[in-house]
Amino acid sequence: MAEESRRLVLAQRPTGLVDASTIEMRTGPVPEPGEGEALVRVRYLSIDPTIRTWMNDAPGYLPPIGIGEVVRSGGIGEVVRSRSDRYREGDLVVGMVGWQDHALAGPGSGMQALPPGVDPLAAINVFGVTGMTAWFGLLEVGTMRPGDVVVVSGAAGATGSSAAQIAKAKGAAKVIGIAGGGEKCRYLLEELGLDAAIDYKSERVAARLREEAPEGVDLYFDNVGGEILNAVLGNLAMRGRVVLCGAISAYNATSPPPGPSNYVSLITRRGRMEGFIILDYSDRFPEAQAGILALLSEGRLRHVEHVVEGLEHAPEALNLLFTGGNTGKVVVKL
Ligand code: NDP
Repeated sequence: MAEESRRLVLAQRPTGLVDASTIEMRTGPVPEPGEGEALVRVRYLSIDPTIRTWMNDAPGYLPPIGIGEVVRSGGIGEVVRSRSDRYREGDLVVGMVGWQDHALAGPGSGMQALPPGVDPLAAINVFGVTGMTAWFGLLEVGTMRPGDVVVVSGAAGATGSSAAQIAKAKGAAKVIGIAGGGEKCRYLLEELGLDAAIDYKSERVAARLREEAPEGVDLYFDNVGGEILNAVLGNLAMRGRVVLCGAISAYNATSPPPGPSNYVSLITRRGRMEGFIILDYSDRFPEAQAGILALLSEGRLRHVEHVVEGLEHAPEALNLLFTGGNTGKVVVKL
C-alpha cells in the first residue's frame, strides 16, 4: 500500500485554548516533488505561541491561517527525495514545514539546509528564532549594558531562559527571572544561575521587585504583558528600557486587555518601551549564531527542550505554552 501522509488543518478558529474542534487530521498521498523541488519528511516542529495568534481571524505581522489550511509552523525535516540542485537526500532543512508529515522544499519555500553535524534541537532552539529573539531583543532593542539590573518574564520558557542567561553572560549586575510556580523558580536559581526568581503565581510581583531592585529595573525583557508588565513599569530605573517581545497573557483573550496604567512612569523615569519582530533581523542571524555558539562552548548558555512525541499531539503541545506546562523550548518530534 502506498505511504500516506498526515496533516493537521485548522478546522475552526479557537476561543481560548485549542481544543478538539480546532484542528482536524487529514490523510492523503505523500506529495510529489516537482522539478526544482525536494520532498521533506518532517522530523521536529517548533511550537511557538505565535501559532495561536495566527489562528485568529485578525491582522498581524503574517496573515491568519485559513480554515482548511495546514497549521503554519517552523520545524526541521529531512530531505528524502530531491529534484533540486539546492537540496540533497539526507540533508536536514529548517523552515516553515507546517503541522504535517511531509512538506515540499523549493524556490520560495525559504527552507534552508542545516550545516552538517548541527544538533536539530539546538537548531530549533538557541540557533533558531527562539535564540535569535533573545539575543537581538536583549542586546539590540534593549541595548543591554554591563551593570544593568535586568528582569525577564516567562523566564523558564524558551526565549526567556535564553535571554536571562545571555544577560548574565554579558555582565548584568543582577538578573531577576519571573515565572509561575516554585519548581520553575528553583530551576531559575539552581540550574540557570539567575540572581533572583519571583513566582508570579504566589508572590506579589511589585513588592518583590522593590526588594530585589531597590534602585529600579534598567532593562525589562517582557514575554507576557498584562499585570506583570504593569508591575515592572511601576519599578523602572531612570532611563529604564522595556523590550516588548511578547504578550502571551493576552493571546487567548476574547476582549482587548486593559492598558498598563503604570505607563506614566516612562515619562517620569525618561524611559523607553519598544516592540520588535525577529523577522526584521533575519539577515543578521549569522552574527548572533556566532555569539550564541561562543556562549555555548564556554558553558555559559544551556538549552533545554520539552519534547512531545507525535504529530497528533501538536495541539496539546501548543496549549502547554499557555498553561505553563513547559520548561524550555516546546518541540514536537515526529
Ligand atoms: P515559552 O517557552 O516562554 O512558553 C510560554 C510561557 O509563558 C509558559 O511556559 C508560561 O510560563 C508563560 N505564560 C503563559 N501564560 C502566562 C500568563 N498569563 N502570565 C504569565 N506567564 C504566562 O514560549 P516562547 O519562548 O516560545 O515565547 C515567549 C514569548 O516570546 C511569547 O510571548 C512569544 O510570542 C514571544 N516571541 C516573540 C517573538 C518576536 O519576534 N517578538 C519571536 C518569538 C517569540 P509560566 O509557567 O512561567 O507561566
